[in-house]
Amino acid sequence: MDPQPRASSYSDIFSVLEATTSDVNNANPCPLIREVCAVCFDEHHPDVVVRLPDCDHVFCSPCLLSHVRAKMEEGIYPIVCPVCSIDWSRRVEDKTHIDQRVLDNLREDFPDEEYGKFENLQLTMFAMELQCPGCKQCIKAAREDLDNVLLTCPVPSCGSVWCRACQKVISSCEKSHSCRPDRRFRRMMRLKRWRFCPGCHTPIQRAEGCPHMTCRVPGCRTHFCYRCGGTIWMPGHRGDAYDAASFHNKWCRVVFVFNSCSIQ
Ligand SMILES: [Zn+2]
Ligand SMILES: [Zn+2]
Ligand SMILES: [Zn+2]
Ligand SMILES: [Zn+2]
Ligand SMILES: [Zn+2]
Ligand SMILES: [Zn+2]
Repeated sequence: MDPQPRASSYSDIFSVLEATTSDVNNANPCPLIREVCAVCFDEHHPDVVVRLPDCDHVFCSPCLLSHVRAKMEEGIYPIVCPVCSIDWSRRVEDKTHIDQRVLDNLREDFPDEEYGKFENLQLTMFAMELQCPGCKQCIKAAREDLDNVLLTCPVPSCGSVWCRACQKVISSCEKSHSCRPDRRFRRMMRLKRWRFCPGCHTPIQRAEGCPHMTCRVPGCRTHFCYRCGGTIWMPGHRGDAYDAASFHNKWCRVVFVFNSCSIQ
């Protein structure tokens, strides 16, 4: 017969206690056991909290849902656990990402329509919607292809090759494409102080005030700096756009007085 585990030190007592509590939790949650939500600090019955995989942080559904919704609203992906996201001792890759595993637990409070939006957001990590200037159809371009300036339309009847910088279809007789936006266009860019979005190369006019810009082209959502034109964050980058922006501002050299930053 196995002897009962005997506690010989405080840490052993603790681990025995822990083992007992988790056994109870798994079998039949005792009404006296309460879980504390890491956002609102309210105590909840274990049945109504969500425990995140990997980091084990616990939240009540309303708190976790409002976090997920806020991040979705900003177009931020991946969505990181609210506690992990402010834990600077954790490496980015050790922070828990809120994904389908977690959302499945919230399914009752997270309607299909929102779930669909989440999946779309997830998709923008790998692909971006662009319009082919040849056939005018919307196509999905893989993120890794976006490093190339020249793209090929995947629509079989079209197959146009076009340049993302000048948005012109390149004819098959053109051997090498060198594009220079024409002088008038460049002058207008300068006069109106437009910048090209570093993600999709669309000319963007600056909104009032803050140099932190968010591209509104569908599927792009690149955050960039109007001051230097550099990329701050784009879907597929790890972490949070806000963190990336404050990091960027530390090294972005041109002096600019930052009053209030409202991400557009
Ligand atoms: Zn809560
Ligand atoms: Zn966490
Ligand atoms: Zn096309
Ligand atoms: Zn071009
Ligand atoms: Zn863009
Ligand atoms: Zn900058």
